[in-house]
Amino acid sequence: MKMKLKPNEMAPHFRRSRLLIPGLTILLLLWGALFAQLRADPPKKPIRVLMVGGGASHDFDTWYKGTDVKTLSEKGFADVTYTDDTDAVLGYLDRIDVLYLTNNQPFKDPKTREAIMKYADSGKGLVLGHAALWYNWADWPEYNLKLVSGGSRGHDKYGPFEVTAVNRKHPVMKGVPAKFTLKDELYYHKVDPNGAGIEILATAKNEKPEEYPSVFVVKHPNARIVGIALGHDGESHELKAYKQLLRNAIRWAAK
Ligand SMILES: [Zn+2]
Repeated sequence: MKMKLKPNEMAPHFRRSRLLIPGLTILLLLWGALFAQLRADPPKKPIRVLMVGGGASHDFDTWYKGTDVKTLSEKGFADVTYTDDTDAVLGYLDRIDVLYLTNNQPFKDPKTREAIMKYADSGKGLVLGHAALWYNWADWPEYNLKLVSGGSRGHDKYGPFEVTAVNRKHPVMKGVPAKFTLKDELYYHKVDPNGAGIEILATAKNEKPEEYPSVFVVKHPNARIVGIALGHDGESHELKAYKQLLRNAIRWAAK
């Protein structure tokens, strides 16, 4: 004779199963969704940047070593090393994604100069800021010709001027206002017709009126090079538009 369980003896186990199985299913689905999301959007490694500053006329420690390093390091965007020792650059070139030059002092060591050219020829990234866009090195014309495709030999007296985006579709201009005004030195950036040329992304205009390239990409055959003529002091480095430009430039150059 079969034992017949009373309904109240079956019910507790049955009730647990009814709750447990859908619960586990939901957990598994959530886990699967989370795992798929992680696979689709893996955590990105910070971009490895070497920033080179130092030299006359600028407070490199405050605005580059201080503000720019902070701008680039936020939320693990970049892993930035700052140096004002131009001879130290050589030791970093094989372990960085972007070389951010902004120095107003020469690279004296011929081996360092050669290594920077090789670094560019190998297709790596460079961002050239403010002082690094000057015609600074009479004994190193290759720098301006090949890496900058020109340069500045003069600028307006420090004061306010307007920057206008001319190619807002370029990734370097993403999220940057179509126009913004700041106090800075308006560099008279001229393109060398013997160089690879540049693609202008934003211009700076003074009251004369004269218009000069302010943000641009150098058409180097291999390297990804962005030039940003702005950056004399805190009036640019602390500006939201400048911070966005700098982060975009580093990201684009790192690809
Ligand atoms: Zn300056």
